[in-house]
Amino acid sequence: MKLEAQRRAVVQYGKKMLAAGLTTGTGGNLSLRDPETGLIALTPSGVEYPVITEEDVVLLDPEGAVVDGKRKPSSEAGFHLALYKKRADIGAVVHTHSVYATTLACLHWEIPPVHYLIGFAGKKVPLAPYATFGTEALAEKVADGIADGNAVLLANHGLVAVGVDLASAFSCAEEIELVARIYYQARCAGPPRLIDDAEMDRVIEQFRTYGK
Ligand code: 13P
Ligand code: ZN
Repeated sequence: MKLEAQRRAVVQYGKKMLAAGLTTGTGGNLSLRDPETGLIALTPSGVEYPVITEEDVVLLDPEGAVVDGKRKPSSEAGFHLALYKKRADIGAVVHTHSVYATTLACLHWEIPPVHYLIGFAGKKVPLAPYATFGTEALAEKVADGIADGNAVLLANHGLVAVGVDLASAFSCAEEIELVARIYYQARCAGPPRLIDDAEMDRVIEQFRTYGK
């Protein structure tokens, strides 16, 4: 099987996404880009994570043509491909419907620097305007909205996180969900005090060597 290890990683991170409570049912999707071949391994559309196998993971070329796999690729192949095209620095994309990030996306709020863990994504998490799921219009808005950060909220939909590999894209999605929850709760109790720009520069610098 082509890119078996990479397809296995996609299967495993799908199960992790479900276990971490970042999505339900067949919601969300994830992919990685193989640096050697440039091929993208993407979850199939509408299949529940516990039953997805390596064979179900679809391999696409950078233009979206199916290179291997019998399943239909995720309906969001468009934004996965658009993100890889725009950002040569990324190797994975994770899309979730995690509850607090999605709550903020339904309020059309961005996430400001309310907790230092926002540094996983940048100085804030921006909001991409609404477009119907699975459309080229959404793909454009997501690619525009993410700029040079690692996460973007999708209005009335969910969250997209990116990273150099699946581990870092997944961590970003998980930590931003925590920050979204903290931000929502802090706003319920009173206006949160934000971290200033110079301190966020220090946080982002600290993250460069954190755990390495
Ligand atoms: P897929 O099952 O086609 O990946 O769709 C899930 C989703 O989250 C659409 O935005
Ligand atoms: Zn979705």
